[in-house]
Amino acid sequence: MDYYSSQITKLIEELSKLPGVGAKSAQRLAFHIISMPKEQVDRLAGAITDAKNNLHYCRECFTLTDREICPICSSPERDHETIMVVENTRDLAAYEKTGKYQGVYHVLHGAISPMLGIGPNDIRLKELMQRLQGDVKEVIIATNSSLEGETTAMYISKLIKPTGIKVSRIASGVPVGGDLEYIDEVTLLRALEGRVEL
Ligand code: ZN
Repeated sequence: MDYYSSQITKLIEELSKLPGVGAKSAQRLAFHIISMPKEQVDRLAGAITDAKNNLHYCRECFTLTDREICPICSSPERDHETIMVVENTRDLAAYEKTGKYQGVYHVLHGAISPMLGIGPNDIRLKELMQRLQGDVKEVIIATNSSLEGETTAMYISKLIKPTGIKVSRIASGVPVGGDLEYIDEVTLLRALEGRVEL
């Protein structure tokens, strides 16, 4: 039954497709948006379309950026021979916030999960292997310490080992199953410094 006008039903429907937004929150958000001043709604809608239209993946590391090559990859200050492999752009941001990591990144956009049917070809692994044909001294695997993250780390280390490039894994001081983005900077740095060669 359509209790509200079809427009608001449509808005609720779209909002409830977002992760973590249940039917109730979608309804609350929808009514909140409707009650907002028109300029604010325009800014919100504009920010969403602008972000979507202008952001794409960096040609080198596959993080989200509005340039062809992201600021990290194009910086001469960074150590381009050290690549940290992370699952997503949020994890990259967590390490960037520490301001201590000088290398570059590679964003996989996911992790291998046989349970969810996500295989090596579904993440940016081929692209990582291509990058290793350049001058690379060390690959630091900083995937999460979840089952998927560990599976991915193992898979990557097996792939890289034969190339002779040093492969290391961040220390497991990171709580199991913990998303990197929620871990404080000190713990992140400790995990990075305490990394072990695989
Ligand atoms: Zn990049």
